[in-house]
Amino acid sequence: MIKQVAGVTIQPKHRASCHCGAVVLELDLPDGIVDPRRCDCSICRRKGAVVASVPLAGIRIVQGEEHLTLYRFNTHTAKHYFCARCGIYTHHQRRSNPQQYGYNVGCLEGINPLAIPDVPTNDGVNHPADRPKPG
Ligand SMILES: [Zn+2]
Repeated sequence: MIKQVAGVTIQPKHRASCHCGAVVLELDLPDGIVDPRRCDCSICRRKGAVVASVPLAGIRIVQGEEHLTLYRFNTHTAKHYFCARCGIYTHHQRRSNPQQYGYNVGCLEGINPLAIPDVPTNDGVNHPADRPKPG
């Protein structure tokens, strides 16, 4: 978990916004940024965002719900949300853990995701949900 990025403290309730400001979210981040990562699946390699996780109850849409657009593909399990006005990905309901949202760390107010050291890249080509179950 990461409580501070380049001198900026992660608030227990931290705001996030899209680029044009139409969509504003409030995230519960009592443990800071949890499990930040990149991913090389077909959608993540295009959007290039650093993503972290929160429980589903950990995101509230403060403003602009009407601008959020849902995009689904492949198994249609994950729900990818983005602002229809500026095109910025804000968050998604995860396929590998539908009890969690992934969110765009770069949308957190004041946070530069490129300042987080050693962000790992997940193997999204071989998606965890597609791998053979052990045993
Ligand atoms: Zn926007």
